[in-house]
Amino acid sequence: MNMFGKVTLVTGATRGIGKAIAQRLHESGATVVVTGRNPQLLAGWTNLGVLAIPADVTNVTEVQALVAKVMAEYGRLDVVVNNAGITKDGLLMRMSDMDWQMVLETNLTGMFNVCREVIRPMLKQKEGKIVNISSVIGVIGNPGQTNYAASKAGVIGFSKALAKEVASRNILVNVVAPGYIATEMTQALTEEQRADIVKLIPLQRTGTGEDVASLVHFLVSDQNKYITGQTIHCDGGLVI
Ligand code: NDP
Repeated sequence: MNMFGKVTLVTGATRGIGKAIAQRLHESGATVVVTGRNPQLLAGWTNLGVLAIPADVTNVTEVQALVAKVMAEYGRLDVVVNNAGITKDGLLMRMSDMDWQMVLETNLTGMFNVCREVIRPMLKQKEGKIVNISSVIGVIGNPGQTNYAASKAGVIGFSKALAKEVASRNILVNVVAPGYIATEMTQALTEEQRADIVKLIPLQRTGTGEDVASLVHFLVSDQNKYITGQTIHCDGGLVI
């Protein structure tokens, strides 16, 4: 699926799933812009000739500057993948205000900040594709992740509303809900916990960033002209 000429922004692309998505879209010919907070990891992208702009998605001023820079450089924005996200797990009884707020601020408000900023140029273009990365946890919940589940369920509701709001301008908004993907975010689990999770996955393995990238690639490509407002799981059958 050729993405030639499509200006594409991927948040949280310094590692993990976001990096795999950005790599796939770059290899498919898209003009990719990546963002994240870690300057060293962003420098790796610059070496590949990819525009890497440091930005914290929780900071409105930085998000405004990010989108302004993309528009100044390329004059359009065709695809946005809101992938930046964090976890701060803990049982509700002991969850600090800070852990609640940081997760909601990053996973939900961060996505809102980026969507609000990119929607104006997309409305003007009368064309665009947005994919927001949620999680199966936002659909089925998980003990110790009330903050994360709330943020990821929020992403789904937000995306349905936005899909309806902008459909008349040919802007498609979808959600990808990954299951268990082996990245730094899931590294903290013990081997035993990982084996227990794999037992629950019909395809009998954990996912990779590339598995998620394949789905995102399809959703943002010209092959997708009629799917919007959907939440598509990429989880090896974990949630059926
Ligand atoms: P990682 O922790 O490996 O990567 C997270 C990325 O988000 C990094 O690039 C990080 O960059 C970026 N990021 C975090 N906070 C901010 C911020 N405030 N501003 C800008 N960038 C930020 O996580 P994964 O790759 O595993 O997860 C990616 C997405 O997929 C997340 O939304 C996560 O919730 C979701 N997901 C992951 C699953 C999994 O099993 N791994 C399962 C389901 C969903 P930097 O530190 O440089 O800012």
